[in-house]
Amino acid sequence: MDTSLEVLHRVFGYDSFRTGQQEIIEHVVSGGDALVLMPTGGGKSLCYQIPALVRPGVGVVVSPLIALMQDQVDALTALGVRAGFLNSTQDFGERQRVEAAFLAGELDLLYLAPERLRVEATVRLLAKGEISLFAIDEAHCVSQWGHDFRPDYLALSELPALWPEVPRIALTATATPATHAEISERLGLGQARHFVAGFDRPNIHYRITTKSEPKRQLLDFLRTEHPDEAGIVYCLSRSSVEKIAEFLVDNGIAAVPYHAGLDARTRAAHQARFLREEGLIVVATIAFGMGIDKPDVRFVAHLDLPKSLEGYYQETGRAGRDGLPATAWMAYGLQDVVQHRRMSLEGDDQHRRRQAHHLDAMLALCETVTCRRVMLLDYFGQSGTEACGNCDTCQTPPESWDGTVPAQKVLSTVLRLARERRQKFGVGQIVDILLGKTTAKVLQHGHDSLSVFGVGAELGNSEWHGVVRQLLAQGLLAVEPDYGALVLTDASAEVLRGKQEVPLRRDAKRPARAARPAAG
Ligand code: ADP
Ligand code: ZN
Repeated sequence: MDTSLEVLHRVFGYDSFRTGQQEIIEHVVSGGDALVLMPTGGGKSLCYQIPALVRPGVGVVVSPLIALMQDQVDALTALGVRAGFLNSTQDFGERQRVEAAFLAGELDLLYLAPERLRVEATVRLLAKGEISLFAIDEAHCVSQWGHDFRPDYLALSELPALWPEVPRIALTATATPATHAEISERLGLGQARHFVAGFDRPNIHYRITTKSEPKRQLLDFLRTEHPDEAGIVYCLSRSSVEKIAEFLVDNGIAAVPYHAGLDARTRAAHQARFLREEGLIVVATIAFGMGIDKPDVRFVAHLDLPKSLEGYYQETGRAGRDGLPATAWMAYGLQDVVQHRRMSLEGDDQHRRRQAHHLDAMLALCETVTCRRVMLLDYFGQSGTEACGNCDTCQTPPESWDGTVPAQKVLSTVLRLARERRQKFGVGQIVDILLGKTTAKVLQHGHDSLSVFGVGAELGNSEWHGVVRQLLAQGLLAVEPDYGALVLTDASAEVLRGKQEVPLRRDAKRPARAARPAAG
């Protein structure tokens, strides 16, 4: 019997394993069950392909990506691996040939669409052959909590009862702790070893700055740190994509827009230019990026807050695939929080809870005073890493300060404004009241006679905005769904009663401009 390393050399032509691969492969070769979390491009396929070649029998791979099966099988065949697939795209004859090869022991790997396992005939077929392992790819599809739920995946919970001796390895690139737990439970992998590998992208410098004048800040960032370099600028809406692309072009920077509202031909042309040309910037919605493999993307910039850390990680992960220094830069401000808090109120109960959970994690990353990378890795289950030295909070640790009194001032202003039933006031009015500004709107509503009028002279306008933003981020303020007005939460009461302190992060006066990390 070949060892795993021999198969890696001889069949796949690689010198060495990547982080995590060897451990996983040896565990499965020896018959153990595994649940593997590894980012896209991390090298998950070898984790089941090599054990399937080393162990006797056929490795059965369950995958929802029917469109890719032919390519996968072709690629394996080219390497001399005997592989086949069964899915709904085949005619009877093709299916029969694959089934015959399976029964004759002439396959190393058999790819199956999940719905095949719901068919009694498939189960009978598999029972007649020798199976070396089951690999369950895109395992997050079994999770109803996740975003790719496929009912057919639920049938996979039957595997251990039908084949108690056959090891199972489930793999996914996108699992929050909650999804992870659900995969483990639904697939009966509670006893399996869980591997979390390779989420760190050490060459990416993470930086999140407070948004004041986003366009100016973006331009500054591009000119000082990434002149003439390729990168992606993500915006939330199609219209901001258009505006920002135009703004960059007006300022002499090569940029093209990309969003689902453009016709297919324009999209394809812009994508092709991005891949081919040097130093082109794509300004895009999240519609851009899936399956794009450009190694020398030097930066990913976010002008709007992503919905979740999964999104943030996936989008920023498109930078620096070549291993050279790259920057993940984001400008984030009060309006982002208001908008996202409001969006997270849409949909049914379960959807709202999920959105709120994702948003809280995203906001925690934005407002953290500790290493961003540690937080990000921790979220993806890779805990116990040390402060990285290559993120903004490591390089210029932000101060925290006791914001209890300012928080109380904001909260009591919100409380007083809430008594005016028919009127809904935004952040601007709250700050104007605190600063004692006699604007037309303040006078019109008699807000200059409120007891909180003018009690906030200790902070400036933008600092007050920062306080409100952080109160929203911490859940001490909420957004009311109809008008988007700010309202108190249950937790606010504790602060108002002086029972809870409010630590705040001091925003940098100007966006911190960190030096570019040296190459290597
Ligand atoms: P994933 O399924 O995790 O997205 P793949 O299995 O498709 O990733 O692997 C991504 C790429 O990395 C593939 O081109 C693969 O051939 C390559 N790769 C995987 N493992 C190794 C290794 N040990 N050495 C070199 N290249 C590898
Ligand atoms: Zn760090």
